[in-house]
Amino acid sequence: MSDEIFLRVRNLKKHFPVREGFLRLRPRRTRSSVKAVDDVTFSIAEGETLGLVGESGCGKSTTGKVLLRLLPATSGSVFFRGSELLSLKGEELRKARQGFQMIFQDPYASLDPRMTVGRIVEEPLRAHGVKSAPERLERVAEMLEAVGLDTSYLRRYAFEFSGGQRQRIGIARALILRPSLIVADEPVSALDVSVQAQVINLLMEMRSRFKLTYLFIAHDLSVVRHISDRVAVMYLGRIVEIGKKDDFFERPLHPYTHALLASVPEPDPLRERTRFILSGDVPSPLNPPEGCAFHPRCPRAAEPCSNRLPELRDMGGGHWVACHLYETAQTKII
Ligand code: SF4
Repeated sequence: MSDEIFLRVRNLKKHFPVREGFLRLRPRRTRSSVKAVDDVTFSIAEGETLGLVGESGCGKSTTGKVLLRLLPATSGSVFFRGSELLSLKGEELRKARQGFQMIFQDPYASLDPRMTVGRIVEEPLRAHGVKSAPERLERVAEMLEAVGLDTSYLRRYAFEFSGGQRQRIGIARALILRPSLIVADEPVSALDVSVQAQVINLLMEMRSRFKLTYLFIAHDLSVVRHISDRVAVMYLGRIVEIGKKDDFFERPLHPYTHALLASVPEPDPLRERTRFILSGDVPSPLNPPEGCAFHPRCPRAAEPCSNRLPELRDMGGGHWVACHLYETAQTKII
């Protein structure tokens, strides 16, 4: 893993406008907005895997889609291998897309059932101007073998395969252009537990074989612990803690991280640990609480929490937290 900053995301925002009325008799006015991603800042070094965790609806997947230009950003910057991605247009953007790809959560919905496996995996090569049919076939066959699929599957349809095999087809398609950055959006959560480990191991093998860098989005902390070098936690559109994997799991700081870790089943019945069960649901991002958005659910909430937003603070060793309990630490920019 290199120390060079390979992906740098700064103050990224994605706000979805909410308009009033549904009749199109006159222009609808914007009433408010859903702040799905709100001022998110992080970096990933080349070859690193950053796990991004949090409850459903916290903005993890939207962050991944916005930084890969699958959704337009409201504001912010995404610096990737020397280019400011959010300002690229036309041919420049098309070329840049070869360097990053997404692996989707649902291998049933993300593959076109009317296309053969060969066509699905080949499609990005066609879209990026690889005109020679024999070259495309050779590259598709190589990639199918790399992900553990037989080349005899080329003429079969995706619906003929199991969930694990379909996810392998999705991975082959994502890697066919030899990207360097992969956003994996819950890539195993739709799979049977029995095949999850196989797909995770495949992703790790692909990481070293093709020198990949991952933003790995998941809600399963045991999967994140297995594959990540660092972990970031999102709550209601913001990163509230980010740090090296060992610091994150052994010395968590944010009360929300404590709650997430407490929710993971403990296989050893003799091992004691503090139980901290989260109460209530994540508040609506349409009307988030003032101050720290976690304060209505936080057992340690105090006076400043309901009226002042905590900033991310460096606690040393690359471990950052946004919580008033750590006010004395110096604020720096990641
Ligand atoms: Fe809890 Fe306050 Fe920290 Fe928010 S800032 S996590 S409410 S202690």
